[in-house]
Amino acid sequence: MKDPRREGIARYEEAGRDYLRKRREQRQAMRRARFDTIAVHGMYSVDEAFRQGQGGIIEPIFPSTSQGYRDSDEMEAGLAYRIPTWCYSRIINPTNSFLEDTLSLLEAYGCPFDASAFCTSSGMAAIKQAVEPLLALPEEGGAGVNFVSSAQVYGGTFQLFNVRLRERRAAVRWVARPWETAEWEACLDENTRFLYTEMPSNPQQACSDLEALAQVAHRFQVPLIVDSTIATPALMRPLRHGADVVVHSLTKTVGSGGAAIGGAVVARHDMTSRHLAAEARADYATWLKLWPGRDSGPCMSPYSAFFFLNDLRTLRLKVERFSESTMAVARFLAGHPRVESVDYLGLEGHPLHALAARYMRLADDDRPMFGHLMSFTIRGAAADARRFFDRLQRVFRATDLGRIKSVATIPAISTHSQQGEEGRRLAGIPPTMVRLCVGGEHPDDIIQDLDQALAGT
Ligand SMILES: *Cc1c(COP(=O)(O)O)cnc(C)c1O
Repeated sequence: MKDPRREGIARYEEAGRDYLRKRREQRQAMRRARFDTIAVHGMYSVDEAFRQGQGGIIEPIFPSTSQGYRDSDEMEAGLAYRIPTWCYSRIINPTNSFLEDTLSLLEAYGCPFDASAFCTSSGMAAIKQAVEPLLALPEEGGAGVNFVSSAQVYGGTFQLFNVRLRERRAAVRWVARPWETAEWEACLDENTRFLYTEMPSNPQQACSDLEALAQVAHRFQVPLIVDSTIATPALMRPLRHGADVVVHSLTKTVGSGGAAIGGAVVARHDMTSRHLAAEARADYATWLKLWPGRDSGPCMSPYSAFFFLNDLRTLRLKVERFSESTMAVARFLAGHPRVESVDYLGLEGHPLHALAARYMRLADDDRPMFGHLMSFTIRGAAADARRFFDRLQRVFRATDLGRIKSVATIPAISTHSQQGEEGRRLAGIPPTMVRLCVGGEHPDDIIQDLDQALAGT
């Protein structure tokens, strides 16, 4: 006997399979497009524009909290994830999905495998979501779990690892010199769950040899996670070098317009992890979104996704400009008598210049480029750095970076104040350090502002 209810569901499933088949074909076609084309269009094709209703040439914002279903069959199939659906905006939202499509295409650019993305309310939410399932404690006692991380990470990440995760009995093992692969190797054991590095790090611009690090991780069958916020996919795509998961604060260079906070977890399909279930490993980012994300609610607002989509279209163009301007500013500062040292990966004298140049190359261009984050130390004491800082007129004083507008901060009293003097020493942050992120202004005007501010120190 036929079950009419099953038939109803089967009808929706059939339509769902058709749609997914079309999307797979379209995704394959987009994977063959060049970087800028992907950044501009993502998966929002002309066909998709009409499927969304009005044919708008940019992705619409879907503020709706939830999706209405045609009948009970569609609802049942939708809530069980048996058909493509977005149910409720805590779980999935169509605008966010367009952003996830574009980001995952860009991170998997040039890879023989594909990836997926999960967008979150902030970069910190992305990092927390990415690492938590990997740290599940064994059911029975045991020796506890650990993970190995570069000590040169964003201040918030340092706190998350050093305080919040310790509270949950996951021990972080810090690597002081993350460019020395041997230091990582010495930290791993059978209870290690993942390796975590930030490249280049904020603000010290530490780098790791990603390919060597991925080999170490995979020897222990654990994933390598890379915070690639500063590089952005326009300069570096860690998945291509063996990383399993990339995390981003989209708030920064990806969202250079400065209108929204957001983050993303981008994971390659079939990632390495002997601790995750096969189902989670197969498509980690989607699994995070559909299951743990559904229960904890770190979702991005669709309004934010709209800003990120628009900023992302011109990412490569901007990063090229930012990188060139930052080089000009770095050379100016390096020759200034009031400046003690300049830290910019683009300067040939930087000890990590060669390592960075191996990994950081402008997409579809292949010239080494180093982005717009740099730092320098002012000669003298903390008070001298503050005097210089207070005299800046065009450069904004803000705990921020990655902007189309130049911004500067003193890390010791802002981003890295929480971790205390001891933590700052470990991370190499002196009180005279100024972090500068050069924007899209003409570099001569930024140099002029720095010059007049330095004259007053
Ligand atoms: C800012 C930043 C974060 C945190 O991102 P939010 O969006 O501010 O939560 C993480 N990593 C790096 C490298 C950052 O610069």
